[in-house]
Amino acid sequence: MMTTMFTDRRQLREHQESRWRSVLASLLPGNKFYAEKLAGIDLAKARLSDLPFTTKAALLADQERYPPYGRMLSLPLERYSRLCQTSGTTTGRPLCWLDTPESWSAMLGCWEQMFRFIEMRNDDRLFFPFSFGPFLGFWTAFDYSTRNGYFTLPGGGMTSSARLRFLQAHRVTVVFCTPTYALHLAEVAVKEGIDLPASSVRMLIVAGEPGGSIPETRRRIEAAWGARVIDHSGMTEIGPMAIECWQARGGLHLLEADYLVEVIDPATGKEASSGQTGELVVTNLSRTGSPLLRYRTGDLAQLDNESCACGRIFARLRGGILGRVDEMIHLRGNNVYPGAIENLLRRFPEVTEYRVVVEETATLSNLRIEIEPVPSAVNSILVDRISKMIRDELLFRVEVVCVPPGSLPRYEMKAQRLIHTKGPASRAP
Ligand SMILES: [Zn+2]
Repeated sequence: MMTTMFTDRRQLREHQESRWRSVLASLLPGNKFYAEKLAGIDLAKARLSDLPFTTKAALLADQERYPPYGRMLSLPLERYSRLCQTSGTTTGRPLCWLDTPESWSAMLGCWEQMFRFIEMRNDDRLFFPFSFGPFLGFWTAFDYSTRNGYFTLPGGGMTSSARLRFLQAHRVTVVFCTPTYALHLAEVAVKEGIDLPASSVRMLIVAGEPGGSIPETRRRIEAAWGARVIDHSGMTEIGPMAIECWQARGGLHLLEADYLVEVIDPATGKEASSGQTGELVVTNLSRTGSPLLRYRTGDLAQLDNESCACGRIFARLRGGILGRVDEMIHLRGNNVYPGAIENLLRRFPEVTEYRVVVEETATLSNLRIEIEPVPSAVNSILVDRISKMIRDELLFRVEVVCVPPGSLPRYEMKAQRLIHTKGPASRAP
């Protein structure tokens, strides 16, 4: 499964051009979803930018109309061996995704590259402290790890406290989880008198939320664990797609041999100008069982083509995934990203958990931040300091309220900290 190394952009571009053309050729006539979508386009002459975007809404509609797998299958159903499904948090309805053994193997090839990027060592002990669900999250990392001789520890069906004892007992060195769960484990460790920085954990690979690239969240995880945070990004329907390298913080290398990535202005669909924040659009080059062409991910990102300290030529996402297009909050003429609020709240060690409630009435949006302080905090002072910092740095006024310790939900997988309501929302219990 050794993947080609690319040393110059021109050679990479040629590889991408020939790959997406061959993916396109392999789609038809089997893939009825794309056969319909691409009808009338002269595929032999088309450039990638001539192809229409694919949206999650269209895939969901297709699966609804042709249940349960839709028509996004380039091959006969018996060729597929693996089912994943999205967590369905945004749309409510999960999207099913099937893979052939060849597609699965291509994703293991992505991890082969990423293990090199993060300088995984042969004697590392890899711990996955969560219950694997139907979504893709870290399944392929786990599979790559076991197949390639890394000591691999599953940690599903355990309490957080049992997981902490487990990671100590087995001298775990690398932990895979969401940023939120890394913080939660650290919180439990403090309560139980476990000295995490003294543990053998040296690295946490985090995904599923933007937190791994939010400077204050990352700083907090690294301090609590005494270990390096590596941010990773992937999606069930796309695959494992980007990771930070060991040598440089603050940007995720895109696996450009396996994914062709564009950044567009979400309003116009045109390519975003260089360095601008826009929506990430991805074309699969190696996961070919149900490959996506120009898929609008709904994620906001910024491309960084500058050279990296590690010497790799793959472009990076500056600051990781910056948020979701549909999570941008329009507030009295301001555009506010939840990531900016998180970065600010994480500066306060007194805040253990929080959520952002957006109340939308017919005429205006109102924003309330609910924080859960540590028991020793003086709530009124904390609220004043946070309100002032938001006013000074994000330039808007916001209602900040304290809720009782332990009243906000804790998350093992993707956290839902942004709540939209129509009309005044009910308070946290
Ligand atoms: Zn690098």
